[in-house]
Amino acid sequence: MRIVVLAGGIGGARFLRGLKRAVPDADITVIGNTGDDIHLFGLKVCPDLDTVMYTLGGGINEEQGWGLTDETFRLKEELAAYGVGPEWFGLGDRDFATHIVRTQMLGAGYPLSAVTEALCDRWKPGVRLIPMTDDRVETHVAVTLPDSGSAAGPGERRAIHFQEYWVRLRASVPAEAVVPVGAEQAKPAPGVLEAIAEADVILFPPSNPVVSVGTILAVPGIREAIADAGVPVIGLSPIVGDAPVRGMADKVLAAVGVESTAPAVAEHYGSGLLDGWLVDTVDAGCVERVEAAGIRCRAVPLMMTDVDAAARMAREALTLAEEVRAV
Ligand code: GDP
Ligand code: CA
Repeated sequence: MRIVVLAGGIGGARFLRGLKRAVPDADITVIGNTGDDIHLFGLKVCPDLDTVMYTLGGGINEEQGWGLTDETFRLKEELAAYGVGPEWFGLGDRDFATHIVRTQMLGAGYPLSAVTEALCDRWKPGVRLIPMTDDRVETHVAVTLPDSGSAAGPGERRAIHFQEYWVRLRASVPAEAVVPVGAEQAKPAPGVLEAIAEADVILFPPSNPVVSVGTILAVPGIREAIADAGVPVIGLSPIVGDAPVRGMADKVLAAVGVESTAPAVAEHYGSGLLDGWLVDTVDAGCVERVEAAGIRCRAVPLMMTDVDAAARMAREALTLAEEVRAV
């Protein structure tokens, strides 16, 4: 079975670990979000690709959900001693090596997709991990900074990098707009459209619908290829009981005018894209609403408390795919 998964960071990676356990023989292609990518200390950092690679490759810091185990932070401390920041972005010494190798290879002219493949030669995630694009896409968030002390008066409107919004500000101010800068001109990376066309099933894991899956869908050609693939497209809600399970997805959903509920996210994707949607059992009351939107819906436990729980979710998604296929 050929499965294509559109993945962000933590939610995507943990789901993928369950999917691998549920169907060990499946041929899994992961299309990774690169809208979170950022240049720090002269290095290219791809947080979502690395979270998937480290989680599936057994190197992830489990508690954090990002970064590597057994980390030290000497390099960052030395940089800080020179007054070189930003200090708000956590990069461990072991993690730095990944970004150095990546930046070196990019500098030598390799596209990000080839670089990702080379990094995966070490981590062996057991899936084919492809960035959504080799082109530069950077998600920016429009915010009004409270009392920035500028002459502009109270509240200066600015567009900031998604990482600055998410990590430095912890989404503490409303996101007024979310823009995947560069997406319109970006091309899907080699292998992305082919994998979609050859897939037997396409899954949207419980990743952020705006800044993870939404950014991937913003690369021209990808949304169309999924809608036209003619195979079941099944999503799992990252919203449980009207709140994101982890993180602050509600903040970026508000920016695109979508309420933070499981059915609203399904409607946001729409029946043109989604054939099936899994909601958590606490949201069982919304199944009818989702089905009324033309999307087959089931309520099942959606908390990835461990790998087995994630594997059960993956099996439910594949069962729903078969139901959709049979219609
Ligand atoms: P990020 O790039 O690290 O933010 O990760 P993703 O975009 O892949 O996933 C983030 C989303 O995963 C958040 O909106 C969370 O609500 C969701 N999420 C995290 N853990 C769980 C879980 O156990 N169950 C469900 N249903 N969603 C989860
Ligand atoms: Ca991310």
